[in-house]
Amino acid sequence: MKKKRIYLDYAATTPVDPQVFSDMRPYFTEKFGNPMSIHSFGREASDALEKARQSAALFFGCDPGEIVFTSGATESNNLAIKGTIIAQANHKSDCKPHIITTQFEHSCILNSCKKMEEQGMAEVTYLPVGKEGIVKIKDIEDAIKPNTILVSVMYVNNEIGTVQPVKEIGKLIEKTNKNREQKILFHTDATQAINYFDCKVDNLGVDLLSMSAHKIYGPKGAGCLFIRKNTPIKRIQDGGGQEFGLRSSTHNVPGIVGLGLALNIAEKERQKASKIVEKLRDHLISRIMKEIKGVKLNGSRLKRSPNNANFIFQNVEGEGLLLGLDIEGVAVSTGSACSSGDLRPSHVLMAIGIPEEESHGSLRITLGKYTTKYEIDYAINALKEVVARLRKIAGK
Ligand code: PMP
Repeated sequence: MKKKRIYLDYAATTPVDPQVFSDMRPYFTEKFGNPMSIHSFGREASDALEKARQSAALFFGCDPGEIVFTSGATESNNLAIKGTIIAQANHKSDCKPHIITTQFEHSCILNSCKKMEEQGMAEVTYLPVGKEGIVKIKDIEDAIKPNTILVSVMYVNNEIGTVQPVKEIGKLIEKTNKNREQKILFHTDATQAINYFDCKVDNLGVDLLSMSAHKIYGPKGAGCLFIRKNTPIKRIQDGGGQEFGLRSSTHNVPGIVGLGLALNIAEKERQKASKIVEKLRDHLISRIMKEIKGVKLNGSRLKRSPNNANFIFQNVEGEGLLLGLDIEGVAVSTGSACSSGDLRPSHVLMAIGIPEEESHGSLRITLGKYTTKYEIDYAINALKEVVARLRKIAGK
């Protein structure tokens, strides 16, 4: 008999919605044109591209011309950070552009910032996020300098699910910009927020916003960057000049079609999906805290994404837990998927002050729109058994 498999790792990726898949399918086969071609095949692809751009614009409440399609959030984030710094390339040599970000951003933000620092292109302030995993507005305000050009703060953290005060940061930057010659841009990595939170760019006050389709029941390898009109930004990749000259390379038309539809569906399902998922997640948290000893929830209990639960289990190794659960058919994560297999403690858990030895017992459980109560209860029961077994082996 085929073994049951339960997927509780929706922050790593999501299955493609069947409707999204069926809309994408013809763009692999009969509608395969290159949108840059002028013949009918090209026009067919280019029409699909522009339809997806309109869907994205509707979702984010912006102009279609402010959406740049990319291969995903990693690329969008690289373009947002490096592109805005490069646009300031003729800064005075004694005054590099200054960026403010947080210590627990996704590695594609942190590594882009580090690269720019190493190349002498920028100076970066990495703000703490405290025990709760939420950046303080006052810390951002205090970090602003005359040469600050960009504040980049993620909307929802991918490991612990904490929600950042993006709207308040937007207001702070708007107020600060009134008295400044060098305007500060505001970027948010909204990759983990699209399914559950308001992402209208004017409500958030952002100039740049990144996302990836595969986190919202769309395909892997497609994403976009919202870039507000007149934002100073330069391309980081040279080529044929697609996407307003900001992102060369032949378009991933099926992927972009899937992205557009996934955004339409996310908008329609958001409120209902949030409530259902949150109720299941709360059931999960309360049963685990009640029925397993030596467990801690990481990050704010209230200001967190409705689909995220991240725990420390004392006296167990997260890797052992993950493998034990996998044998039971339950898929979860010890940290972000990108750093799985990396034995260093998670930079996110370090940022919220979890001691290194404890951080090894962390487990991230993330739910999605296909999660059922049966799956949650099955996973909790499996977890109870695996934790008990591992503690017994360790003599704890
Ligand atoms: N930012 C965040 C917050 C993420 O969760 C992820 C994916 N784990 C990324 C960026 C990178 O997305 P992708 O791998 O699709 O480029």
